[in-house]
This record gives sequence, structure tokens and C-alpha cells, in this order.
Amino acid sequence: MYKRLEEEIVSGDVIQVPGFLKSWLSEKKRLFVDGEWRDTRGVFSTLDPATEEKLSDVCAGGNREVEQAVDSARAAFDRGEWANRSLKERAQTLKKIGDLILENRAVLALLETLDTGKPIRESFEGDIPRAAQNFHFFSDFACDEQALCYKNANETHFAVREPLGVSALVTPWNLPLYLETWKLAPCLMMGNSCILKPSELTPLTATYLTELLLKTDLPKGVFNLVHGLGENSTGEFLVGNDGVSAISFTGETSTGRAIMKSAATGPTRVSFELGGKGACIVFSDADMEQVIESCLRSAFRNQGEICLSTPRIFVEKKKYDNFLDGFMHRASQIKIGNPLSHKTEMGALISKSHWEKVSGYLQRIEAPGKILLGGSRPESLRCGYFLSPTVVTDIDPSHPVSQEEIFGPVVSIYPFDDEKQVIQLANGTPYGLSASVWTSDLDRGWRVAKQLKTGLVWVNSWFVRDLRVPFGGQKRSGVGREGGRHSLDFFSEWKSICMPEGEN
Ligand code: NAD
Repeated sequence: MYKRLEEEIVSGDVIQVPGFLKSWLSEKKRLFVDGEWRDTRGVFSTLDPATEEKLSDVCAGGNREVEQAVDSARAAFDRGEWANRSLKERAQTLKKIGDLILENRAVLALLETLDTGKPIRESFEGDIPRAAQNFHFFSDFACDEQALCYKNANETHFAVREPLGVSALVTPWNLPLYLETWKLAPCLMMGNSCILKPSELTPLTATYLTELLLKTDLPKGVFNLVHGLGENSTGEFLVGNDGVSAISFTGETSTGRAIMKSAATGPTRVSFELGGKGACIVFSDADMEQVIESCLRSAFRNQGEICLSTPRIFVEKKKYDNFLDGFMHRASQIKIGNPLSHKTEMGALISKSHWEKVSGYLQRIEAPGKILLGGSRPESLRCGYFLSPTVVTDIDPSHPVSQEEIFGPVVSIYPFDDEKQVIQLANGTPYGLSASVWTSDLDRGWRVAKQLKTGLVWVNSWFVRDLRVPFGGQKRSGVGREGGRHSLDFFSEWKSICMPEGEN
């Protein structure tokens, strides 16, 4: 489907938004509750960060709509039409959803790019295929899981999974469909009902996905979509609702703190994927050309708006100047501009307030700290929340730029003397999500990886994923793990059944 649009995307020319999508965007984006599209009195707008123009009006869910969504999910769960289906039957539905996403890849990629400001290449080759993969992966993975069964002389103990009930899925704007489906797929696979609350800044692909779900045999009420803001609004109403059995949240650490308070009254099961301040450690024996290319991606991919990015790069003193020259040279070549061109490598930041937050950090840099590259909107771009790739050096590791999550295209580069010192520096923030280590000595790579206080470490690579491995953060970067059986564990209850030895 949409072959022409796909061809246009990869051709490298600037894509024109087709007429059918323009008319889709001109319609108000509604909530989806109890199997029906719902209007609300409150409305907000979603903007294109590259043009600052309105894309769509969106209905905001109030407490009443959130309650209706939770009631609908609960009723669907109790009816058991979905929860009582076999794993294989549910897997078929998930596979169909994955297939529908792939069939609509070009449209979804275009909507994601319009809504987030990220380059179309990123959406088309990264986010949307991954969203499909999330459904395909969990449908296979859950079916392949081995049954747990312990046989003794007089009895056998079985452990079986049961669905939890109603899950609230609350997601951020940086990888919208990618992360929504990363939660939705295991949640549905385990037989739960849910309410998805996407970021208010990126409501489009979640709405389009809902239209695709209507083409499947998912029973009414199993999936609900509520749009709206977070604090004192839709998000807060949802996580504070007593009918919710589990909250799966990805977003800022400060939001995680607030949600934890709401969850405490349940108490409700939570999984939190929070902020990061990743480190990249470069030893002098590493292949510098390869490291520079990887560091460019880990610093600037998706405008630096990735929790796993490495806004701190530590380079062994012997190779610091060499690395810095090469990195600056390549960073200055990054093509920043219209996200609708396949040639664009860096798009716009998500919003005006985020652009101001990121720029605000740069204004706080004082000597000896220096901004060696970037730091402002490129002169050629008149509007849009663009910020050039920015390189900072000579900044103290205790400075807020070194310590806090900036979540933009800003990287600080630091020299280091030895292994012990760099481990201390890398571990010296409140976050602990991910890191990468570059060295030709794999013993050292393993040794350093073991000492880093992060949930993930890549040695001589970055962002290489296997969806079976535990994903999550240490310290302020998260609570719990997602991925493979960890996601299935979160979205299910284990029940142990002890059976006597029988004649059969
Ligand atoms: P955010 O915390 O501002 O918002 C995330 C979601 O929570 C949105 O849907 C928002 O409406 C909702 N929300 C906000 N306040 C709420 C409240 N009080 N109660 C309930 N819901 C509320 O995060 P963001 O700015 O959308 O996303 C960027 C953040 O996400 C960064 O910190 C980034 O590191 C993090 N992130 C983490 C991972 C990970 O896997 N660890 C992945 C992606 C993004």
C-alpha cells in the first residue's frame, strides 16, 4: 500500500503531504473509548515543530472520559472475550497489527515526522518498522515460552501466567509509536485491556494506529485511547484511577516521581523507564574513525532526543585532540533542515519550550567551559525549533550541563587519564540508563562494563538491540525492566497450581 508515497520518501526529494492526509489532518483527533470515537469539550492543538504550524486539533480527555475508558477496559476484561483467548489466537491478532503497520509504513512515517520534527528517514527506517516488530516479536516470543512445571514424587507444580486486568500505558513524544507499541504489544499479548495515553505533543500516530486496530478482531473495550495533557489533567486522572491494575510509564524522572505517589494509593504495579545521561568512554586503542561515526549517531540521532543517547563523551587524553578534531569536522557536516527530505540527518526539536530549555543550558556555560560548535538555530532556517549540533568542552563534570538530562543535540567532551578515573566520572550523575565503551581490549571492555552503574552497556557499539534482553535503568533512570520475558512478567500474574499424581 502507498507505494508511491514510499518511493517519494526514499527518493530524497522533499515530500509533499498527499491530499488524503491533509484532509485526515484537518479532522479533529478524538478519543477512542468503549469501541467508539468520542468528542470532548476541551481541545488542544498539535504543531509541526519544523514549521510551527498547526497540524490538527485534538480532543482532551477529562476525568469523566478517563473514568469511562477505565470502566470500559474493566468490563471488557471481565467479559473475557480477549483475556480467555488462547495465546495462539491472541498472537494472530498481534501479527495482523504488525502487518497493518508495515502496510501503512509510509503514512505512519510521514505523520510521525510531521508531529515530532524528526527526519523522515528516521521514522521510515527506524521508528515505524520497529513498531511493527514489537507486535511480531511479542507474538512469537510469548508463544515460544516454555511452560514451567516441576515434577516431584507425589505431585507436580505448574506455573501459569494470567492477565493482570487493566493497564495504563503513558508514553513520551521522542519515539511515539515505537514506545507505545513496545508497551501495547506485550500488554495485549498477555490478555489485558488497556488505556493508552500518548504524549500531548505527538498524538497523531496513536490515532492512526487506533484506526488500524479497528481492522482487527480486537474486542470492544480492550483498547482505549485518551489524549490530553499530563499533570493535573488526563495523565494524572488515568494513573490515579482505582480501576487501573498496572501503570507502564516512559518519560521524565520527575514525572515518574509524581506517578509513583498516585500509584502508592493502590498500590498499583509500576514499570518506569525514565531519563538518562549516557556516557561514551573512548580508550586510546579504539578504532577512532569507527568511534567518531558511532559517537555522532549516539550524540545527535533523533536530535539527541533519545534516552539512550550519549551526551557525555570521555576520551583518553592521548587521543583527545585527535578525536575532537575528527568529531567536530564530521558534526559540522550533519545536514540539518526540512525533516520531509530523505537527505536530512537532523530535524527540529519537539517544541518551543523544549528548544528554550535546551538553549537555556547553553546560556549557563561560563569560562573555562566553551561551546566549540553550534549552540544556536542555523541561520539558513527562518522558522522551526532547529538547533545545530552543539559541542561543548572544558566544562566541569559537576556543572548542570554535565549532570542534568538536556535531551537535545548537545554533547560535552572530556579528557580522562585512566580507567579508574573515567569509571568514576561516568558514574557521577544521578542517572544510570546506558553507556558505551570503546576499546580494542575486550577484557578491559568487559571489566569497565561491569563497573558502570547503568542498566545497559554496549562495548564497541551503540543502540544494538535484541528485544529479549532486559531493558531499563539503574538509579534515577527507572524502576523495573522491559523486554522479552520481563515485559511479559510485568503484564501478567504468575499462578502456581499444585496437582496430585493422578492415574492419567
Ligand atoms: P514527560 O514525563 O513530560 O511525559 C511523558 C508522558 O507522561 C506524557 O504522556 C505526559 O502527558 C504524561 N504526564 C506528564 N505528567 C504526568 C502526571 N503528573 N501524571 C501522569 N502522566 C503525566 O516526558 P516527555 O517530555 O514526554 O519525554 C521525554 C523524557 O522521556 C526524557 O526524560 C527521556 O529520557 C524519557 N524517555 C525515557 C526512555 C527510557 O526508555 N528510559 C525512553 C524514551 C524517553
